[in-house]
Amino acid sequence: MKPSSFLFRQIWHSSLSLKVSIFMLRLLSNRLSMDNVLAAHGFQLPSKCSCCLVSSTESLRHLFLEGELTTAVWQFFGSVGGLAMNVGHVRVWLIGWWLKPVRSEKLQFVFQILPTLICWHIWKARCTAVFQGSVQRPTEVCQAIFHELKDIFLLKFGEVHRALDWPMFLELVECRPDAVFVHQVRWFAQSIGRVKLNIDGCSKGDPGAEAKALLLGLQMCAQRGFGGNLVVETDSLMLQRILLKQCQSPWSINVEVGKIELLAGGSCQFVHCYREANKVADVLANVGSTHH
Ligand SMILES: [Zn+2]
Repeated sequence: MKPSSFLFRQIWHSSLSLKVSIFMLRLLSNRLSMDNVLAAHGFQLPSKCSCCLVSSTESLRHLFLEGELTTAVWQFFGSVGGLAMNVGHVRVWLIGWWLKPVRSEKLQFVFQILPTLICWHIWKARCTAVFQGSVQRPTEVCQAIFHELKDIFLLKFGEVHRALDWPMFLELVECRPDAVFVHQVRWFAQSIGRVKLNIDGCSKGDPGAEAKALLLGLQMCAQRGFGGNLVVETDSLMLQRILLKQCQSPWSINVEVGKIELLAGGSCQFVHCYREANKVADVLANVGSTHH
């Protein structure tokens, strides 16, 4: 696959993780270790797909296009997205999604990322079924895909779409890019006995400054005896995800993250909040930075 090719650009998308890109490369070049591929190399195994009640031979086409799980998932996203299933080849099917004409840059982004996420989650469900013996329901897989899509969208565009489901999300992205959604954002106090720490690193998007601010905050809390039962609010989604181990910590802040984990010690809850609900911390951080 040439770096300049269309497929290459879809697969090595900057918003996708490396393992997902590598998986897609193997899928599109039919190099996933499935029963039919192993059979072609002389490994004769009793072949049985793990996605259907009715037994079928596992193949690329079956797993990603025709199986019960995959059909349900594609229909869930495709029926609202305006795509009907009428092709017989995985690659053609995926290209159909990637080339779907759309009206906005954000929607184009969604349709670039989504087919890959769908394939990735179908593969994960398949591996869970094969190696752990637990079969996931289509609704579970759809929810997992939808949540990951929303997270990626948020990191890319910095918008929190309060869409509860896929049709609503699509409507928000597609039809009403300038629509105003009223959502009350304010700071909420904790119940008695719990302490809330709001942090702000005064640098948009840089998890390093946020991590330093958090570490300082935790140290201050510990000195004052508020160590346990603490709720930390940050408007940095990146930092929150790092602390929840949902994404990898950049090496430059490994030391801070390590110290934070030590101080937090499992009794600390990390919550993401809107910037508007973090105003006091934001103002203080700005005051702090002007006095350096
Ligand atoms: Zn099947």
